[in-house]
Amino acid sequence: MGAIIIDGKEIAKRKRENLKIKVSELKEQGIQPGLAVVLVGNDQASLTYVRNKQKACKEVGIESYLYQYDETLSESELLSIIEKLNNDPKVDGILVQLPLPRHISPQKVIETIHPEKDVDGFHPMNVGRMSVGQESFLPCTPFGILEMLKEMEISIAGKHAVIVGRSNIVGKPMGQLLLNHDATVTYCHSKTKDLQIHTRQADLLIVATGKQNLISKEDVKDGVVVIDVGMNRDENGKLCGDVNFTEVKEKASFITPVPGGVGPMTIAMLLFNTVQAAEKRHGR
Ligand code: NDP
Repeated sequence: MGAIIIDGKEIAKRKRENLKIKVSELKEQGIQPGLAVVLVGNDQASLTYVRNKQKACKEVGIESYLYQYDETLSESELLSIIEKLNNDPKVDGILVQLPLPRHISPQKVIETIHPEKDVDGFHPMNVGRMSVGQESFLPCTPFGILEMLKEMEISIAGKHAVIVGRSNIVGKPMGQLLLNHDATVTYCHSKTKDLQIHTRQADLLIVATGKQNLISKEDVKDGVVVIDVGMNRDENGKLCGDVNFTEVKEKASFITPVPGGVGPMTIAMLLFNTVQAAEKRHGR
C-alpha cells in the first residue's frame, strides 16, 4: 500500500508562518527577538546550517547576529565571548554551531551559555528539567519530531518506540521526551547486539546514526512509523538519510523523507525557542 510521507517542509513552513505573526505582535510591543549564532572554523556543512538558520530567522523577523571566528580561537576566548552574549540585552538566544575545533570542549561551552538563552536546549539545567518533565527549552531535533507526530495525529502513548542512536543532541533526549509522552522506549547504539531484533519490534522507529542505509525493509515490521534523522551524502553527493526510503516506505504507515523531513523542523523549533526566550525575558 505504501506509507504516508510526512512532509516536514510543509509543517515547518506553517510553524514559521505562525511565528512570524507572533514576532510582529512582539515588535508592536517594542520587543525584537534576537539570536546570536557563533561559528568557529570553516566546516562547510556548518556554514550551510548557519546560513539556513539565519535565513529562517530573517523570514520570521528574528534578528540574527553572526559571530564568526577562525579555528585558532582559543577555548577561553570563546567562553568570554559567550559571557558577553549572556549579558547582551539584544540577544535572547545563543547558538554555538557544533562541531567545535578539537581544542575546545563542547561541554564547557554549552555549560557557559546562560540556561535562559540556551535555545538549543543542551545545557545540563535544561536537560535535567526536561528529564523530570519540567518546563525547559527542548532540544530542537527531538522537539521537531514530537511536533511532526502531533501534526500527523500519530499517537505516542503505549507505543513501543525504538531509537537507534544515543547522542546527547538527538537520540537520548528523544527517548526521554517519548517516555514523558508514555511510550515504552528502547535505545539502540553501535554496541547493540542484533539491532534487527529490536528495530523489528518498533511501532515507532527513530533512526539517528549518520549511517546511510542502516535500516532496510527486513529491519521493520508492517505499519511502523519511521522517522529518519540521518543526513548523509550518497555516492553522487545527494543528501540521504539512514533509512532505505524506497524499500521501507512500502512497509511503513508513515515515513519522513530526507531531505524535507526532520531537517526543516529542527530549524523551525530553533526559531520557536528563540521567540519563547524573548517572551520570557520580557515577562510575556
Ligand atoms: P552522533 O555521531 O553523535 O551519534 C550517532 C549515534 O549512532 C551514536 O549513538 C552511535 O552509537 C550510533 N550508531 C552509529 N553506528 C551505528 C550502528 N551501526 N548501529 C547502531 N547504532 C549506531 O550523531 P548525531 O546524533 O549528532 O546525528 C546523527 C545523524 O543525524 C547524523 O547523520 C546527523 O547529521 C543527523 N542530524 C540531523 C539533524 C536534522 O536536523 N535533520 C540534526 C542533528 C543530527 P555509539 O553511541 O555506540 O557510538
